[in-house]
Amino acid sequence: MLRPAGVAGWPLHFHPVTHPAGDRTDLRILPYERRVAHVADWDPRTAEVAGAIASMIARRRPGLAVEHIGSTAVPGLPGKGIVDLSVEVDPAQIHGVVELLYGLGFQPQPGPDPWPPTRPMLVGAVDFDGDEFRIHFHVQPAGGDQRRDLAFRDALRSDPELMRQYSELKTSITGGNSVDGFRYTHSKTTWILGVYKALGFRIPAVQPPATIGILGGGQLGRMIGLAARELGYRIAVLDPDPDCPAAGVADRLELARYDDIEAARRLAAGCAVITYELEHVALDLVKALDNGKVAIRPGPYALKLTQDRLAERRFLEANGARVAPWREVSTPGELRSGVAELGAPLRLKASLGGYDGRSQVRIGGAADLAAADELLGAEAAAGRPMLLERELLFEAELSVIVARGVDGISRAYPVARNVHDRGILVESSAPAAIPAETAAAAVSLATDLATGMGMVGLLTAELFLMPDGSLVVNELAPRVHNSGHWTIEAAATSQFEQHVRAICGLPLGSTELRSGGAATVNLLGDGPDRVAQILGMDAALEIPDVHVHVYDKRRVFERRKMGHVTAVGTSAVAALATARGAAGHVHWTAAGHGGDGNEEAR
Ligand code: ADP
Ligand code: MG
Repeated sequence: MLRPAGVAGWPLHFHPVTHPAGDRTDLRILPYERRVAHVADWDPRTAEVAGAIASMIARRRPGLAVEHIGSTAVPGLPGKGIVDLSVEVDPAQIHGVVELLYGLGFQPQPGPDPWPPTRPMLVGAVDFDGDEFRIHFHVQPAGGDQRRDLAFRDALRSDPELMRQYSELKTSITGGNSVDGFRYTHSKTTWILGVYKALGFRIPAVQPPATIGILGGGQLGRMIGLAARELGYRIAVLDPDPDCPAAGVADRLELARYDDIEAARRLAAGCAVITYELEHVALDLVKALDNGKVAIRPGPYALKLTQDRLAERRFLEANGARVAPWREVSTPGELRSGVAELGAPLRLKASLGGYDGRSQVRIGGAADLAAADELLGAEAAAGRPMLLERELLFEAELSVIVARGVDGISRAYPVARNVHDRGILVESSAPAAIPAETAAAAVSLATDLATGMGMVGLLTAELFLMPDGSLVVNELAPRVHNSGHWTIEAAATSQFEQHVRAICGLPLGSTELRSGGAATVNLLGDGPDRVAQILGMDAALEIPDVHVHVYDKRRVFERRKMGHVTAVGTSAVAALATARGAAGHVHWTAAGHGGDGNEEAR
């Protein structure tokens, strides 16, 4: 049996699990049900259940030492009452042990964010003296986290003060009520990781010159790459376009679609951590990369929730956030009853793949139903239900970007005010002129949501400020965001550097504004599709406190995001006026001008 290393301050008195129930006939492993977390007093029978199952396993596989870990393994510690068991085996034997457990009646882990098959957790339940006990069975590869889990358990067993702190934390999270199990787990991260660190188990930071893999090579990938470069990292990018904006800052470009798992594996092979710059990468690809070898941050769960508007709505509601009244619709009949129930005006949005206002239809009245039916039909043909929601008459659009580190510590940027034109962001300024309590509510909402999804990296919440001062969530993005570009010049740490810090396990930087205000105006293309040649950059740069960013897109067309202008100023209003003035100078040469043929070939 493994004995954890002793740590100064925490003498480890080892309390072996006694097996009082070990001689009983086998317990029957029953189906497991996922429930909300409710904190209750420690139940001594959990140790007996652990012992009984350990002996069951030992009879079948002598030598396989089952450890009782987690809160029920600490006498006196309150908790969810789930019996956590753990075995550590050679990675090649994981499959065999899982088969053995299936044979006993254990099942695969349900819920939104299962452990990967390289470090699986199985679940089951037993009826013990008339009560049900639920079991989490962790199968860990040798050299994995079991040593740490044992050290944590033994520190709690031997240090009453540590146990008191942990009990208090658990009670403060649930406040005597039930909370979602996922939220409960992630609310404890910071404290638990602090104890791990004191025990000598810190999650190692990804240090330069390691390579960061970015799924997606658009302007966001380009700017993440630039920030990562400054910190000394190398960059590998997956994108189908050899001329994508991030190509110029990538050390390595894997040319492939966002659903090409083999290409993603090639990308991952040389990387220390992987991230994504858009939520339209295939979920299966991100799941395939999440194999316990290379960290993928944020992970598949954050992607799953934010790439599908219907999943996102359900997550938001389950986490107490307000959203516009909505329905899931798949057929013209459902659409019509949705319209009747919710009342026009409405928005019909594709659940997957929409961005910059695309793949959605506004339903102002019966006249728009034909266009709505058409989109609905196309989506239904692909097996995708749609989101129908009421259009809200908001006072303003706001966004808040929050970073959450590996250690669960969060930092939010000042709230920005955004203006969209036909679904596409045109300008963003900060700090938004809203009451301090509204700003605080926006930050706490976004921080809560980041915790609820176990985010590591940046989460952006797009919000509607309603006339009554309340906040409604429009959508979430698990990434850096167009409404945070002003942070490059105006915040102590840019959103891009912050994302890199978060995914690399480094301390987060200050999010404070370094000026009275800042604003970003997007440079959108106009006119027909043609080679992009910029005009007016010199005039824009004549203006003090103006910064121009051009994304190196080879072609320009109507409303394409080509770059942006940021101005810093004494206030958000002043900065916005400056940025608008500067952006007004920038254009692209008309078709037929400036393109010399070589340009086309680039
Ligand atoms: P996208 O993924 O394309 O950004 P959004 O759902 O954010 O899609 O919609 C784009 C813009 O359309 C929003 O920023 C907002 O201006 C407007 N919009 C979307 N949904 C609503 C709604 N329910 N009520 C009012 N305006 C909306
Ligand atoms: Mg949006």
